[in-house]
Amino acid sequence: MSKPRALIIGGSVGGLLACALFRQRGWDATIFERARGDLSGRGAGLGISGDLVDIMRGVGARFDASTGSAHASYDWMRRDGTIAFTDRRPTVGSTWPRIYRPLRDVVPDSAYRQDMNLARVEQNDADVTAVFADGTRETGDLLIAADGVYSTTRRQFLPEVEPVYANYVAWRGIVEESEVSEAALRAIEHKLVYCFPEGEMLLAMTVPGAGEDTRFGHRRVYFIWYRPAGPDALADLCTDSVGKNHGASIPPPLIRRALIDELKSAARETMPACVAEIVERAEQPLLQAVSDLRTTKMVFGRVALMGDAAFIARPHTAAGVSKAALDAKALIDELSATPGDMAGALARYEAARMEFGRKLCDHSRWLGAFLEAGGGESRDPREIIRQYGAQTLLRPVDVEALQAPADAR
Ligand SMILES: Cc1cc2nc3c(=O)[nH]c(=O)nc-3n(C[C@H](O)[C@H](O)[C@H](O)COP(=O)(O)OP(=O)(O)OC[C@H]3O[C@@H](n4cnc5c(N)ncnc54)[C@H](O)[C@@H]3O)c2cc1C
Repeated sequence: MSKPRALIIGGSVGGLLACALFRQRGWDATIFERARGDLSGRGAGLGISGDLVDIMRGVGARFDASTGSAHASYDWMRRDGTIAFTDRRPTVGSTWPRIYRPLRDVVPDSAYRQDMNLARVEQNDADVTAVFADGTRETGDLLIAADGVYSTTRRQFLPEVEPVYANYVAWRGIVEESEVSEAALRAIEHKLVYCFPEGEMLLAMTVPGAGEDTRFGHRRVYFIWYRPAGPDALADLCTDSVGKNHGASIPPPLIRRALIDELKSAARETMPACVAEIVERAEQPLLQAVSDLRTTKMVFGRVALMGDAAFIARPHTAAGVSKAALDAKALIDELSATPGDMAGALARYEAARMEFGRKLCDHSRWLGAFLEAGGGESRDPREIIRQYGAQTLLRPVDVEALQAPADAR
């Protein structure tokens, strides 16, 4: 009997996880990714969970102590550098390339086809066909849409579902530890540092560097700074120096120098010195418009949405890649449970993952509501810190097990 065939649209973390899991369970799975070239140079910091670590290791992707940077507590730091509140809670931060690369390594090149831009999906009772912009057609038993927030697939089936801007932005920056003073590094070591200037919030933490070296001074420092911005302010932030507006997402090199200078000057005026120094050193900050995306359906015949194509929670839950991993795992588990009943399996997948996506979005909205321009709800910083992340929805990383040598696990 020939293997069932899965067409996976999108070759970021979600698509790679789906491909690795489906191939492991005997499917013929192929990724079709629009972008050309190596994606591993992109991205910034991200949160990980015990669920993600287990799923990655389960497909043979490397995940060891150098993949993450461990933190012992969540700390609210005042402007004068003193600590106002500590929540002792171990957590691990990583970076997008450190998750993407090991996953890319477990998917064979023959199953990762780039420069393939999905144009539309066609299906009948027997199969599903992906039609690409260059006219190529690929047919399979199932199409998995891991094509992200502006998913071509979702837009075909649900044109009315679009991300909704949350009225604040996130500035992200990543700096080599070697460029930051030892005093600043000591001040944030082993902590996830939170700052709360009026109506805003910044998090700073160490994350792994590009290599294997996890020693103090050899990693990177990452910050994410949330600032209210209504639609007009967002339009200004996303307008380049020749007056061209880039919608809700401006390529980092086109961000106007004056805006970056203003960010650095605001850091000097409102942040503790150690944090202001980190912001100051960030050569090329990234700007993200924070949005909510909630799909109303995840399954359309032989088509299943997953990851960011279905739900985007605000970054406060740090759950984007973990949610994609759990979606992919739930999909293959349901299909494996009833191999002769794809419709039933997809219905169970949809019910479970819609509920998860809704809960995650609700929680992330609660965490970020106080940042919204023009009337955010007020919050006690201590309560924000206690609730930060997605503790009730994701398993925390077992930091001790992560740091143990592989043969001791
Ligand atoms: C380059 C990159 C860097 C990122 N960096 C970070 C980060 O630093 N921190 C963080 O928290 N999250 C980051 N993310 C988001 C994170 O990857 C997602 O939250 C998580 O992986 C789940 O999303 P996803 O895989 O479902 O979709 P995404 O990660 O959004 O990937 C969607 C993929 O689909 C491809 N695609 C879109 N349309 C088509 C089409 N029509 N045909 C074929 N392919 C298509 C895109 O090129 C992309 O590779 C990044 C995503 C990307 C693509």
